[in-house]
Amino acid sequence: MKIQLLVTKGEKLKTCIKIDFMSKMNISESDVIPILKKLVQIKTENPPGKTIEAANYLEEEFQKVGIESRIQEYYEGKANIIAEFGEGKDTIILTGHLDTVPAGDEKKWKFPPFEAKEHEGRIYGRGSTDMKGAVAAFVAVMKKLKENQVKLNQKIIFLGTADEEIGMDGALVAKNSGIMEGCSFLIIGEPTELQVGIAEKGTLWVKIKVKGESAHGSTPHLGINAIEAAAQLIQKMKEIIPEYEHEILGKSTLNIGQISGGTLINVVPEYCEFKCDYRLVADSLRESVKSKLENLLEAFNRGNEAKAEMEIIHEIPAIELTEKNQFFEAMKKKAISAGKENIIGVNYGTDGAMLVPEYNTPFVIMGPGKFDQLHVTDEYTVKQEVIDYANIIYEVLIENFA
Ligand SMILES: [Zn+2]
Repeated sequence: MKIQLLVTKGEKLKTCIKIDFMSKMNISESDVIPILKKLVQIKTENPPGKTIEAANYLEEEFQKVGIESRIQEYYEGKANIIAEFGEGKDTIILTGHLDTVPAGDEKKWKFPPFEAKEHEGRIYGRGSTDMKGAVAAFVAVMKKLKENQVKLNQKIIFLGTADEEIGMDGALVAKNSGIMEGCSFLIIGEPTELQVGIAEKGTLWVKIKVKGESAHGSTPHLGINAIEAAAQLIQKMKEIIPEYEHEILGKSTLNIGQISGGTLINVVPEYCEFKCDYRLVADSLRESVKSKLENLLEAFNRGNEAKAEMEIIHEIPAIELTEKNQFFEAMKKKAISAGKENIIGVNYGTDGAMLVPEYNTPFVIMGPGKFDQLHVTDEYTVKQEVIDYANIIYEVLIENFA
């Protein structure tokens, strides 16, 4: 919008300038959607999880407006990118991961997974929802802040990570490089359909190894059947799930997702192992589940000829926003004005699990993209939602920190 030239009263001039500023503020389709498309076209499937090409591309985008960035390549092609805008001791971090899950059988896709085809207001492709839409929005926000020479009283940092889909090593590298020091608020742009998320479940993966003794299949009484022993133990694993019910996340869960054992049909199996995936709704439950598991196995070993032991394969903490500060309230207001009133928790893990705990940093999980589009064939995101999200973040930063 242009400032009217024929101005007779000072008041009118003020209004016009304000309107002009507001229109300049808006992030338009051309600011964000080309970045999203380009990101989808750059393969970052994990495995192998190489994100260096995407990081290099984003570095070029930042360079166009004179924003400095640095790339943390911590392992052959696995790279984070960190870009900074503005001044200030305190920082606000906008974070999203650059890697995606694999596309799977590409022949099953109606819209090829790495072409970023546009159809009826949607962008199709692997990562369009999880989560290159939010990443593109963050980059557009940073560029717009710089272009409009907005002065904020906190430094804004964009953190694009590698390896979120496999263990969150990228976020861990960023955290270990000190990025969370002085961070007053973290926005994790994982898909929430623009609802504000304030909690996520933690993960505890445990392998149970059961040892028996082999014998000929025709004389099972001479051996100790490890598979039968494992079957008994599997029944007991559910008893370990904590009773506690979180007001947003609900109850903790268990999935026994893998089992292997035995060599041949006519051999008494001497070994069997299975893997338990506990999702815990509060971090305080993690240690108690571990000690209950130890007690359970101890009791089992006392009463059985087969012997079982456990190995923790992987664990990440549950996180929760405990102090609902002014910035959270501002995000909530924006979500409500976008018609999203629910405050939610998410079942999936995010990089927040690595970034939040060190300083108990206040955070929200909020981003464009529908839950039913996570990791699916013909993944898509709604273009307008990505543009709306970019404007929400841009406005919330200006309204609270300019
Ligand atoms: Zn994700």
